[in-house]
Amino acid sequence: MMRTHRCGELRTENAGGTVQLCGWVHTRRDHGGVIFIDLRDTSGLVQLVFNPDASGDIFKVAEQLRSEYCIKVTGEVRPRPEGTLNPNLPTGEVEVIASDVEIFSRAETPPFQVDSHQDVDEMLRLKHRYIDLRRPEMQENLKLRHAIISSIRRFFDAEGFVEVETPMLTRATPEGARDYLVPSRVHPGKFYALPQSPQLFKQLLMVSGLDRYYQIARCFRDEDLRADRQPDFTQLDMEMSFVEVDDVLDVSERMFKQVWSEVLGIELPDFRRIPYEESMQRFGSDKPDLRFGLELIDLGDVFAATEVKVFRSVLDGGGAIKAITIPGKGDGGRKELDGLVEEAKSLGAGGLVWIQVTGEGLKSPIAKFFTDDEVAGLTKATGANEGDLVLVVADARVGVVYKVLGGLRTRLAERYGFIPETDLSDAEHWKFAWIVDFPWFERNEEEDRWDPIHHPFTGIVEDTIGFLESDPAKVISKSYDITLNGWELASGSIRIHDGEMQSRVFRALGISDEEAEEKFGFLLNAFRFGPPPHGGIAPGIDRIAALAAGETNIREVIAFPKTQTATDPLTGAPSEVDEAQLKALQIKTTAPPPQPGV
Ligand code: ASP
Repeated sequence: MMRTHRCGELRTENAGGTVQLCGWVHTRRDHGGVIFIDLRDTSGLVQLVFNPDASGDIFKVAEQLRSEYCIKVTGEVRPRPEGTLNPNLPTGEVEVIASDVEIFSRAETPPFQVDSHQDVDEMLRLKHRYIDLRRPEMQENLKLRHAIISSIRRFFDAEGFVEVETPMLTRATPEGARDYLVPSRVHPGKFYALPQSPQLFKQLLMVSGLDRYYQIARCFRDEDLRADRQPDFTQLDMEMSFVEVDDVLDVSERMFKQVWSEVLGIELPDFRRIPYEESMQRFGSDKPDLRFGLELIDLGDVFAATEVKVFRSVLDGGGAIKAITIPGKGDGGRKELDGLVEEAKSLGAGGLVWIQVTGEGLKSPIAKFFTDDEVAGLTKATGANEGDLVLVVADARVGVVYKVLGGLRTRLAERYGFIPETDLSDAEHWKFAWIVDFPWFERNEEEDRWDPIHHPFTGIVEDTIGFLESDPAKVISKSYDITLNGWELASGSIRIHDGEMQSRVFRALGISDEEAEEKFGFLLNAFRFGPPPHGGIAPGIDRIAALAAGETNIREVIAFPKTQTATDPLTGAPSEVDEAQLKALQIKTTAPPPQPGV
């Protein structure tokens, strides 16, 4: 071995011993002829001391050392002299007096300092990710992610699950996103799709009698990227046979509890279960952040007999009037209020009514139209006190009301500091919840059709099956999500395991029998050979790791992520390919030729 210890391990107990260390020059300071180096490896930092009177060439070599040189050092550990202890460093009570040094490799001046990440441009970080990943925070994130995955594997192993890999080059799986396609050379004009999830394979494994499957699976979805989305990402995919909803919830919840206990030292309480409808009504979202209130209040009853035009037409049109009350924010000026209206519009609202509760009554552009009963009813329903701000959204489409108020609820909570500043080590920080009883369908107005909220293989609550053709909005699915602090961490469902029923659902989705046969014939065929009842779930590993690390972007817990525009500044992907490669694939691109420098 080239080393006897890791840098970050050394303590006063090691004093007097000779050690060999390998690592990178983190910082270098010259002090009156003595050179101090902080040497860094994955375990941490330790201070090296090079004295000018050391024997041989050591000092000369030390003078050449620069940031990020990779070196090996031999030396004696000794307690630091009185007054030079560094309480901020675990190794801060000792230093190593170098007696030998070898330079493995030199480094050019790095594009950014390994310890000064805060204001480094992310493009630069991603372009030089290998340097970025040298930063202790990034090493911690990757180690945390590893600890999570290894805890997950231990859990499933103990529960009798079998880890099985499923193909990357496959057919499209419908998770609602666009596919990444891979052209086949052997079959010109044909394409594989990268899996959006292993959904159909895991169902086939259940038909195969495997009983309990899991996989740390890569998934690929070509969709608009956000802080919690990457084109390729990792799911903990699992599936079980002979189970009902409660069984999957039980296993998944115990898994999360084990991971939180083992990795973060937190004993999680049982997860709350919130029906979808309640979640929408109270939080305007199916992934509610439960760390704060600001719940939605329905004003339909208050304005049931109203003459206020905007409200009247909304109620007559079957729409909804709902509000949130923002405590202590009722003194904003015109600019702030106009800003809120614009924000509501950007979330899809036709408008936003603001009402300031003042000592002289309600202040609002439409307050003069309210009757006394309406003023009293509104004040009571919203619980608003003097100094509070009430924001009202009225729209004929209830979904728009939820989207706007749900969006404002989380944005304003963050902006105005309503989210308690809990520590990650505080059990109170982790507000897990199950969202259950989802509708099966959602209306796609643009395409004038019904789409699945989950995916087409999701089971249906028995006594709502009758609505499949007559009133799709009333069909309830056997699906469930895990949410945490405003993030969706997992989705899953009990599946349809009856070929007839699956075909009926395809038809309800407007998929013809021929199309179903062409796309999913292999699943329907499998269902002709004794499929067991089955169900599963797929938590997102990147999201779990990001939240556990206290990060707000999953890129911080992915070694080599892509940018918001799905590029990789490190490798330059995606890139043009050789004409010869395209020719072999019999593919011609219609994209304009690349501009020089772009
Ligand atoms: N395949 C689903 C997804 O990726 C998860 C599941 O239903 O198990 O969302």
